[in-house]
Amino acid sequence: MSITESRGLIKQQIMEKLPSDVDVTKIEFEGPEIAVYTRNPKFLIENDILKDLARRLRKRIVPRSDPSVRMVPEEAEIEIKSIVPEDAEISGIFWDHIIGEVTIEAKKPGLVIGRNGTTLKEIKRKIIWRPSVIRTPPISSKIILQLRHLIQKENQERQRILKRVGGRIHRPLLMKGGFIRITSLGGFREVGRTCVLVQTEESNVLVDCGVNVGSSSEAFPRLDLPEFDLENLDAIVITHAHLDHSGFVPFLFKYGFDGSVYCTKATRNLMTLLQLDYLDVAEREGKLLPYDQKAVKKLVLHTIPLDYGEVTDIAPDIRLTLHNAGHILGSAIAHLHIGDGLYNIAYTGDFKYMRSRLLEPASTKFPRLEALITESTYGGNTNQDLMPSRNSAERQLVNLINSTVKRKGIVLIPVLAVGRAQELIIVLEEYIRRGIIEEIPIYIDGMISEATAIHTTHPEYLARDLREKIFHRGLNPFLADCFTQVDSVDARMDIVEGEPSIIMAPSGMLTGGPSVEYFRLLAPEEKNCIIFVSYQVDGTLGWRIQKGWREIPMIDRSKNGRAEITNVKMEIGTVDGFSGHSDRKQLLDYVKEVTGHLPLELVLCCHGENTKCVNLANTIRKIHRIDARAPNNLETVRLK
Ligand SMILES: [Zn+2]
Repeated sequence: MSITESRGLIKQQIMEKLPSDVDVTKIEFEGPEIAVYTRNPKFLIENDILKDLARRLRKRIVPRSDPSVRMVPEEAEIEIKSIVPEDAEISGIFWDHIIGEVTIEAKKPGLVIGRNGTTLKEIKRKIIWRPSVIRTPPISSKIILQLRHLIQKENQERQRILKRVGGRIHRPLLMKGGFIRITSLGGFREVGRTCVLVQTEESNVLVDCGVNVGSSSEAFPRLDLPEFDLENLDAIVITHAHLDHSGFVPFLFKYGFDGSVYCTKATRNLMTLLQLDYLDVAEREGKLLPYDQKAVKKLVLHTIPLDYGEVTDIAPDIRLTLHNAGHILGSAIAHLHIGDGLYNIAYTGDFKYMRSRLLEPASTKFPRLEALITESTYGGNTNQDLMPSRNSAERQLVNLINSTVKRKGIVLIPVLAVGRAQELIIVLEEYIRRGIIEEIPIYIDGMISEATAIHTTHPEYLARDLREKIFHRGLNPFLADCFTQVDSVDARMDIVEGEPSIIMAPSGMLTGGPSVEYFRLLAPEEKNCIIFVSYQVDGTLGWRIQKGWREIPMIDRSKNGRAEITNVKMEIGTVDGFSGHSDRKQLLDYVKEVTGHLPLELVLCCHGENTKCVNLANTIRKIHRIDARAPNNLETVRLK
């Protein structure tokens, strides 16, 4: 059967099951969804028939109104505003003319939805568009506005992509059963450039495709392997926005990839921010750029955002479900259901199996699972692989800050702009509010503010306690007065020469960004203090400082870019326990929890230094008596 025949058959199956008064004008494959366009508004409102059909065919079928029956947007906008109570404070209305969807942005989205969704239903009935509601973010994000604009402007191109992707997903299965193989293209027995190729007889899916920002010789995944064929790649799944998982995806678009990328909406927004910054930093440092901004835009247009728990066909024989990973905003564990019940793989990406201030712990609730691919960042059996409790980590942080402030010093905390920064904002705000840390200014530099704005746009991903604090007690730590955004180089000079303060700046491992400049300026003074709160990869400047290097050649941009020795006299503190990764105990607890209710056959350990991956695999094998391995890069493991 050809692709056209197969799609024709699916359309026919749908048509046959629909009553004739539905008045279907077309059936369209739109990415993983099948859209049924109708002239009958009743069908758009009460779509039980479609829901039932979707369940039976195991496809995502959505109703859409034919353009001829939709109210014109100018009138529809007046209608929406007359239905929704004024207290809802609508701040924007956005139209998607092709698929007939309208997004209403309001300060109180609950009032747009109404009790049991009645207000929303009324809107739908009156204007014959499908409405959805988003909360007006308390801090507006530039990148989200740009993305919204881009997607709107390139609507036709987006439709073409979705149609093509839909066609590929619903192509006929050529073989039944067959093999399943995993090939490690990067990030195995190392941290950085994570990339895993999942292959069946039918399809090829890439999970994560990152760069190693700390390395120049092994910066990119090994896409040169014969196993990897861009032409036949069905889809890319991105677990989270950090560059070691998402930084190389635009490269594939530069070389013509025209398939889809699946991740959460928060991941899409955050990774765009990080990729654009990666290009900026590389350009400033005169490095060769693997791709340009155009490739990043292409990636945005090819991204299909998914919510946690949404089951989606991404290839003819592969279904993807994303589950919360507890690592950073929008981070996900990717669950792949292959064949019809043939095999199930969960790939953890980076995950935290503990509740943090920001996020709920990683999910273990998979319907079925045969193979688990787990990160191993803290998988070794040394003291560093076990983290202190969060309470003692917070106490240690407070002590380091207070003693620095007492001797009139300045505290520098290098952080990843996404994740640790927001976790620390919550912690610091609380201790200042409670008077445990003196009321000193906290300066936030680089992309942290923009990343924080994205956090406030997606409250649905935040931990329950934090959401409760923000929405029911009106306490939003991200908006607290103690934080000041730094936006010029001159301001930095004033800060380092000024009164005691705390500076939070990316990058977290001093591989670039404002934290490096702050370090250079603050390092020679004993009264200052640098506090590391995240993992420092081998070879990075952060790692060298942590290992005790006291004379570091650094470039002073104000002096013709000459390298000069910086003498490190400042206090150097490391506070473990804030990490977004699971420590060894949490990794083992996670495996125990999963094997407790699912018949796991195989565990593959990746994303960790050599000894950590091997040690974790050995331990899991011993405890659970299941096959556990730590493959090298370029190895292929056959699962079925
Ligand atoms: Zn990460």
